[in-house]
Amino acid sequence: MQTRRKFIQIVPVAGAALLAGREVLAQARPADALDPKSPQATGLKYVEKTANPAQKCTNCQLYQAKATDPWGGCPLFAGKKVAGEGWCSAWVKKA
Ligand code: SF4
Repeated sequence: MQTRRKFIQIVPVAGAALLAGREVLAQARPADALDPKSPQATGLKYVEKTANPAQKCTNCQLYQAKATDPWGGCPLFAGKKVAGEGWCSAWVKKA
């Protein structure tokens, strides 16, 4: 009886944890994320993690998302999402 009660208590918690984990993974890398190895990306030296935190997509004028969004659009890579922590050689300081 004790085991069954414990099981009933654990299942919803485990289910919620799995759902939360899936959500985190989904946020980690969207399906339409720009491939850093694609010719468009390498042409502009795009990386998903900037080497200089003072210059990253979230503080670039061209970033098309909120500064707090981990991924966002960029007109230079139409139809793809760039990483908020990313960078490319076309970076322009947000006004
Ligand atoms: S231009 Fe470059 S640095 Fe600016 S948002 Fe697009 S990919 Fe990021």
